[in-house]
Amino acid sequence: LSERLGGVFDRLTKAGALSEDDVKTALREVRTALLEADVSLPVARQFVKAVEKKATGAAVTKSVTPGQQVVKIVHDELIAVLAGDDQDPGKLKIDNPPAPILMVGLQGGGKTTTTAKLAKRLKEREGKKVLMASLDVNRPAAMEQLAILGQQIGVDTLPIVKGEDPVTIAKRAKTQAGLGGYDVYLLDTAGRLSIDEELMAQVEAVRDVANPRETLLVVDGLTGQDAVHTAENFDNRVGITGVVLTRMDGDGRGGAALSMRAVTGKPIKFVGLGEKMEALETFEPDRVAGRILGMGDIVALVEKAQATLEVEQAERMMKRFQKGQFNMNDLRTQLEQMIRMGGMAGMMDMLPGMGKMAKQVDSAELDDKVLKRQIALINSMTKQERANPAVLQASRKKRIAAGAGMEVSDLNKLLKMQRQMSDMMKKMGKGGMLKQAMKGMF
Ligand code: GDP
Ligand code: MG
Repeated sequence: LSERLGGVFDRLTKAGALSEDDVKTALREVRTALLEADVSLPVARQFVKAVEKKATGAAVTKSVTPGQQVVKIVHDELIAVLAGDDQDPGKLKIDNPPAPILMVGLQGGGKTTTTAKLAKRLKEREGKKVLMASLDVNRPAAMEQLAILGQQIGVDTLPIVKGEDPVTIAKRAKTQAGLGGYDVYLLDTAGRLSIDEELMAQVEAVRDVANPRETLLVVDGLTGQDAVHTAENFDNRVGITGVVLTRMDGDGRGGAALSMRAVTGKPIKFVGLGEKMEALETFEPDRVAGRILGMGDIVALVEKAQATLEVEQAERMMKRFQKGQFNMNDLRTQLEQMIRMGGMAGMMDMLPGMGKMAKQVDSAELDDKVLKRQIALINSMTKQERANPAVLQASRKKRIAAGAGMEVSDLNKLLKMQRQMSDMMKKMGKGGMLKQAMKGMF
């Protein structure tokens, strides 16, 4: 694949920004990479379309090709989609003991194994007292399988009573978990080889008595398209809160992760990486993204090129600041940076030299909304005015303020800030403090 991509990249023109053609050509290869990684066709299509919009017109970092740049954009977008808004995939809702967790999925997907792995993790990492119960009355040795794993990892299992139905076992588990002072109880359900009505009805009935805090769908991460179908079905009928992808230790590319995330919108919580009880890890979007795309070397290359460029830019800026050349363009960059870093407060934590400056610039002026208004003022200046704010007299000031929907007094405050910062930069430059401050910034 890399070879094929290399060929495509060579054909792309070198230019400052990505043209529509650059993007289209590179994305054709990306789409193939996604399909080869078992991402379902509609998801791959939709994903590529979204990236196309974002990538067209995007800047190309010096010393990388447009195609490489597209791959980086794709990679970042993959991570964004995979991660969704799930800040902490390894965390489960298990307050209010005893918290029930329902494990669902098809037969052979890895439910029983994952139940035990998860129990071990909760016990060892979070110090929880865990109970496991097998509701699998269909397969002869299923309950014993869980009991054996329980012994192996030192986690209690609900005693087996022959002839009980899953709902009765679930009720018994609930009672036992309450009486025994357990923090969490995991319900390992039966699976089928494929989705059928009886299975779904059974899982629904169990859900209704257990009222689980988490319902985790356990799917074989290497089954690709089928996994998406399974996830859709379970989510529609039972309602899942998260996904565990098993067998990610195999050599498939794990495209199911992207498909499932896109189709169900439910977070991927863990990945199974082997048969051993330790082989369960928190889902890491960047690792899975790299694997799906299979272009890790390209991504690394672009990241390096970008980092180099940023350092060069920072150094150029620093040289100018030391000479007291701090114009409105610089101020705008700083303001934008502040917004990105969570306003003044966030920035102070990061920059040793900046605290002093902020005090002199009056930090009340620097909350997010104010920062945005100041940027609007700068945007309303001409190129010449931005480069040399000294040219601003009354009529120009009026025009600029009106253009940004603000008063001349607001603009005067901004000009004062620019002058203060310019002085400060000069002073800091002499003491070597500027260098230190800028290090944290870029
Ligand atoms: P269930 O039918 O859904 O309960 O599936 P099981 O937990 O019984 O697992 C079926 C088989 O898959 C067993 O042989 C497990 O050891 C194996 N298995 C489960 N998870 C993983 C994994 O992450 N990687 C690998 N390689 N094998 C796994
Ligand atoms: Mg099982």
